[in-house]
Amino acid sequence: MKVLVINAGSSSLKYQLINTDNNDVIAKGLCERIGIEGSKLTHQPAGKDKIVIETPMENHADAIKLVLGALLDVDHGVIKSMDEIGAVGHRVVHGGELFANSVLITDEVKKAIEQCCELAPLHNPANLIGIKACEEAMPGVPQVGVFDTAFHQTMPKKAYMYGLPYEMYEKHKVRRYGFHGTSHKYVSGRAAAMLGKDIKDLKIITFHLGNGSSITAVDGGKSIDTTMGFTPLAGILMGTRCGDIDPAIVPFLMEKEGISAAEVDALMNKKSGVAGISELSSDFRDLKAAADEGNEKAQLALDMFAYQAKRYLGYFASAMGGLDAVVFTAGVGENDGNMRASILEGNEFLGIKIDAEKNKLRGEEIDISAADAKVKVLVIPTNEELMIALDTKAIVEG
Ligand code: AMP
Repeated sequence: MKVLVINAGSSSLKYQLINTDNNDVIAKGLCERIGIEGSKLTHQPAGKDKIVIETPMENHADAIKLVLGALLDVDHGVIKSMDEIGAVGHRVVHGGELFANSVLITDEVKKAIEQCCELAPLHNPANLIGIKACEEAMPGVPQVGVFDTAFHQTMPKKAYMYGLPYEMYEKHKVRRYGFHGTSHKYVSGRAAAMLGKDIKDLKIITFHLGNGSSITAVDGGKSIDTTMGFTPLAGILMGTRCGDIDPAIVPFLMEKEGISAAEVDALMNKKSGVAGISELSSDFRDLKAAADEGNEKAQLALDMFAYQAKRYLGYFASAMGGLDAVVFTAGVGENDGNMRASILEGNEFLGIKIDAEKNKLRGEEIDISAADAKVKVLVIPTNEELMIALDTKAIVEG
């Protein structure tokens, strides 16, 4: 089955057409600046040259029409008829407590996604617009919602509740949700396949380290705890997000700096993390280059990132009562061998030991643990689009 995977953001829309019979990407692309002057579509058919179409896109419906046009085009298209698209899989950021699995989209499901908008005001409305635009452009084609939060719905209550008055959970649904679920699910599944074991028998810690970072304890194939929380701001410090801080700092800064709740929120989301510490960049390559030249703040940012990630090795291994494998994924996790080594350093007592030569390799699924290590350390490129396509196929085929 050919599945069109859609990831709609507030002013962008990413897509991939995936053949789920062999997991090949047939075409992929990106619509940028939707509703803004200068909008364009970049379309990449597999094995052919990339094309860029600069044309106004007033809304997501325009963008979807343009994407379908590109997929069907006689020159750079990859399908002859819309009938070839068997289903559409949508990334939806927040499913709240309403979705523990991917789901066929119905009117009821759309209402439920709408209910989750207040939990993800920047993302869920865009995801809904993407769904509605596809329904209009492709009537009758089944659509599936795949939620970033769903994989973490297996967390026990003791892991997802905050120590606030219980009524804050009852009234406002304030709790830990966790994000990057599609990625954590995908790489933990691939880890089991690489090790030739049933995932039910494995205790895995998955490190999704990119511009946004989260770490998950996957016990027997289920997320039992994760670092992101009510929002993706929680956990370890990230590119520009501060991660966990003492919550009392929020009112303190509001008073001291004379700033509003929205301003302190922006400070924590956009001006913090390794960018805020280094006063240089959110890109780990820039930080490494600067640190190598003697920039102390860049070095501090890298050290903090490694240390905060390392904390969760002990925390989650203890929560699961053991550890069989550690997985690294996403931009930093897949590419930065120095960061992987810094995170794991000093954990031989847990049975973790990496092969320094293997740790230099990148761009593929690889076991970088030393031959005599008890715990396997794996680098697995994430593939959220493929996970969405496979979930979509499974649901459509029942
Ligand atoms: P992601 O959010 O998964 O796309 O990851 C993006 C981040 O990966 C960027 O901010 C980069 O800092 C980081 N990254 C990509 N390539 C490398 C690399 N070779 N070494 C270190 N960091 C990298």
